[in-house]
Amino acid sequence: MKLTIIGGGIAGLSAAYYAKKNAADAQVTLIETANRWGGKITTDRVAFDSIPNHLRDDGQFIIEGGPDTFLATKPWGVALCKELGLGERLQGTNPNKKNTYVLNKGRLLPLPDGLAMMIPTNVQAILKSRLVSWFGKARMGLDFLLPAKNVNPDGTGAGGDESLGAFVSRRLGREAYENLIEPLMSGIYAGDGDQLSLASTFPYLRDLEIKYGSLARGALQMRAQSNGKAVQGSRSAFLTPTTGLAEIVEALIEHLSSHNVDLRLNTHAIRITRNLQLETWNVELDTQTLESDSLILATPAYISGGLLASFDPELASALQSIPYASTATVSLAYRLSDIPRELDGYGYVIPRREGRKALACTWTSTKFPHRAPDGYALIRVFVGRAGQDFPWDENKLLELAKEEVKLTSGITAEPILSRVFLWDKAMPQYNLGHPDILKRIDAALEKYPGLALAGNGYRGIGIPDCIHSGEEAVKRVCKLEGLKV
Ligand SMILES: Cc1cc2nc3c(=O)[nH]c(=O)nc-3n(C[C@H](O)[C@H](O)[C@H](O)COP(=O)(O)OP(=O)(O)OC[C@H]3O[C@@H](n4cnc5c(N)ncnc54)[C@H](O)[C@@H]3O)c2cc1C
Repeated sequence: MKLTIIGGGIAGLSAAYYAKKNAADAQVTLIETANRWGGKITTDRVAFDSIPNHLRDDGQFIIEGGPDTFLATKPWGVALCKELGLGERLQGTNPNKKNTYVLNKGRLLPLPDGLAMMIPTNVQAILKSRLVSWFGKARMGLDFLLPAKNVNPDGTGAGGDESLGAFVSRRLGREAYENLIEPLMSGIYAGDGDQLSLASTFPYLRDLEIKYGSLARGALQMRAQSNGKAVQGSRSAFLTPTTGLAEIVEALIEHLSSHNVDLRLNTHAIRITRNLQLETWNVELDTQTLESDSLILATPAYISGGLLASFDPELASALQSIPYASTATVSLAYRLSDIPRELDGYGYVIPRREGRKALACTWTSTKFPHRAPDGYALIRVFVGRAGQDFPWDENKLLELAKEEVKLTSGITAEPILSRVFLWDKAMPQYNLGHPDILKRIDAALEKYPGLALAGNGYRGIGIPDCIHSGEEAVKRVCKLEGLKV
């Protein structure tokens, strides 16, 4: 069988990996338009002695341009890392300084203890928190009394879905949503919580409401049930290989090269057509056309839609109706002596209502101490959210990030090192109606058993979800249903 995979991000790389694992004889070609593998995963390892005026000569900064860690509780990331021999290299987050803050009227206030599945469960901690007023706290308590709302289990159809903002406001009140929950949840998608689909982003919250009649009661029950059960084989809920997520990409490329996968960088897919007689797929490239029995599109949904537009406009239009938000990360390194406050936690999130351009700020070298040499700090400012103006200029972004750390942490020194990463149309927005779009896509795909989609545009944005989407795509096109990959 000949299989072509378009897109060399984590989803496409994983698809190639699982194709060779399950159908060793398959001739797999993986094409990527850029000059490097990994897509949104990109790690810059900056040797310390390349920095001017350095005081020491060891260590390196590990700067993540895109994702900086992955969730261990979704099993697919850890499983792939173990298969690639990276299991022992996975590092957890720093257990000694776990504070997370929320920016509130320009001040950093600690997130209350006892958040389970992002839902507050510790009444004492909520009562003490200055993030929510007394009125807001009383409103949160109504969660124990309010009835559940009836909705379609799969989130489709009229009244089947509800926005994240509407749902959390309905259960816990608007103030708790805006000051506490919105920056944590919407930040994952760089999205607008009043647009994001509950069914597609946090379906377990609706399940808690239906099953337990209250979010807090449900989260408490779930926590009690999982007490004592550590995340399988790991020490922390978030993991990353020692020298950055690029280790996963590097290990995949090494594995695929040694398993005869035809790996092509700088190769742009222009159009896809179908040979109806032979039932094969043609991928038009700049200089040649690749023919294959099966095809996996691991490109962003709007690109996949464009590629398929000439032979299935309905499928193309469903794919192109998934919006994407643009974001950027700016990493700044400082001497610790230039930082006036202790970076005593993982960083802070910024509620939309604060009106800042930045979405969050990670104190990277506290969260992952091995990512900066001793005596230095690495900070990452995350910029850009759906519906907000975005300065598409590296210098402006750098200034914006420096302004953010000055305003919030009082840092006025110039960074000794900075890196800006721009991500154009990078974050799919699972907005209201996303479950209906997926239904349209699935219906259209039924006509083409040899075609599958993978990547962050559909059923999960995190790295483990993207890996899983690659596995699932392989099961579909290689007709491996029922086979455990
Ligand atoms: C700033 C940022 C921070 C994030 N933080 C986290 C995090 O901490 N943890 C986490 O789990 N997730 C995080 N995410 C999300 C996660 O990184 C992405 O969802 C995931 O990496 C996407 O992988 P993918 O393979 O679906 O897509 P991509 O990585 O976008 O890969 C698609 C590939 O297709 C290629 N391509 C496009 N068009 C063509 C064409 N015509 N021909 C050939 N190739 C083409 C692209 O060049 C690209 O390499 C973050 C994302 C961003 C942007």
